[in-house]
Amino acid sequence: MKITLVKGDGIGPEIIGAVCQILEAGGAGIEWDEVIWNEEMPDVEPIINSLKRNKVGLKGPITTPVGKGFRSINVTLRQRLDLYAGVRPAKSLMPGRYENIDLVIIRENTEGLYSGIEHFVGKDAAESIRIITRFASERIVKFGFEYARKEGRKKVTAIHKANILKCTCGLFLETARKIALSYPEILFEDRIIDNMCMQLVKKPEDYDLIVATNLFGDILSDLCAGLVGGLGLAAGANFGEEIALFEPVHGSAPKYKGQDRANPLAALLSAVMMLKHIGKQDVARKIEEAISATLKNKDVITPDLGGVGSLSRMRDAVIEAL
Ligand code: NAD
Repeated sequence: MKITLVKGDGIGPEIIGAVCQILEAGGAGIEWDEVIWNEEMPDVEPIINSLKRNKVGLKGPITTPVGKGFRSINVTLRQRLDLYAGVRPAKSLMPGRYENIDLVIIRENTEGLYSGIEHFVGKDAAESIRIITRFASERIVKFGFEYARKEGRKKVTAIHKANILKCTCGLFLETARKIALSYPEILFEDRIIDNMCMQLVKKPEDYDLIVATNLFGDILSDLCAGLVGGLGLAAGANFGEEIALFEPVHGSAPKYKGQDRANPLAALLSAVMMLKHIGKQDVARKIEEAISATLKNKDVITPDLGGVGSLSRMRDAVIEAL
C-alpha cells in the first residue's frame, strides 16, 4: 500500500526519518510516496495531489512564518482536502504530574478563526472573521459522538464561549445539544472555554472526549499534551470523508533542528494511529509495546521527558524492543 510521506522542516526530517526506520523494523510493509517539501519555494499542490491519490498520509511539522509570509500549509491542507476532524488523544504513557489520563480532543479543522478572512482596516486596526456554520458544527459533533461510540467513551463535552460569542458559539452549542439527543447512551455536557482550561488542570480525570471549534480545540490539545508529558508525546490525525492525514500535534521546533534531541514519539504515535486506520493492528500493537518498554529507560529517552538520551538513542531502543 502506498502512503504519502511529507517529512516537513525544522525537526520534521529527523523525527519522520526515525519513524520510517521504526515502521520498517516493525514489518509495516509500507511503500512511501514521498513528496519533498521545500521551505524556499513552498508549494502545496504536490502534497495535495499525492494525498488525493493515496488517501492516507504521514506528515512532519511545517513551519509557518509568524505575522508575515505565506499562509500556513497545515491549515491549507486541512481546508483544501476538507480534513474536517482533528483527532488528538492525550494518554498517560509514563509517570508524570498526573496519572491515568485518557482524553481525546476532537477539533473542527476547517473554519472558525482559521477561515483565513483577515485584513487591516486602515493602518491601525485589523479584523479577523470567525465563521461558524451549522453544517460544520453538525459534522464535527456527530464525528465526536461516533468516535465516542466506536471507542467506548462515556462522555462528550462541547466547548464554547456562548455567553459572549452568542451567534458563533451559540450556534455551535445549540447544534451540539441537538446532536447529543441522538446518542442517549453517551453523557453530554458543555463547558465555557476559560472554565474548561482550569477544570482540565485541576481534575482532568472528569473528562473523556472533548469536541471544540478550531481555535479552542487547537489550544486545548496543547494544554492536554502538557498534562501527559508535553508535545513530544502528542499524536494527531486529520480525517475527511475519504482522506486521512496523520501528524504530530507539535510544530517544527526550530531550536532543536539538527541537534538529535527532538522526541520522535509524537510522530511515531501518529504513525501508530495510521497503522490502525489502515488495518495493521498487529504492527501498531507491537510498536506501542516497544514504546512502553523504551519509556522506562531514562538513559535513552529525550530531555523533554526528563531523560538523558537523544532522538537516535530512542529510535534504536524502540527498534531493539521490537
Ligand atoms: P512547536 O510545537 O514547534 O514547539 C514548542 C515547544 O515544544 C518547543 O520549543 C519545544 O520545547 C517543544 N517541542 C515541540 N516538539 C517537540 C519534540 N518533538 N521534542 C521535544 N520538544 C518538542 O511550536 P512553535 O514553536 O509555536 O512553532 C514552531 C513552528 O511550527 C511555527 O512556524 C508554527 O507555525 C509551526 N507549527 C506547525 C505545526 C504543524 O506542522 N502541524 C503545528 C504547530 C506549529
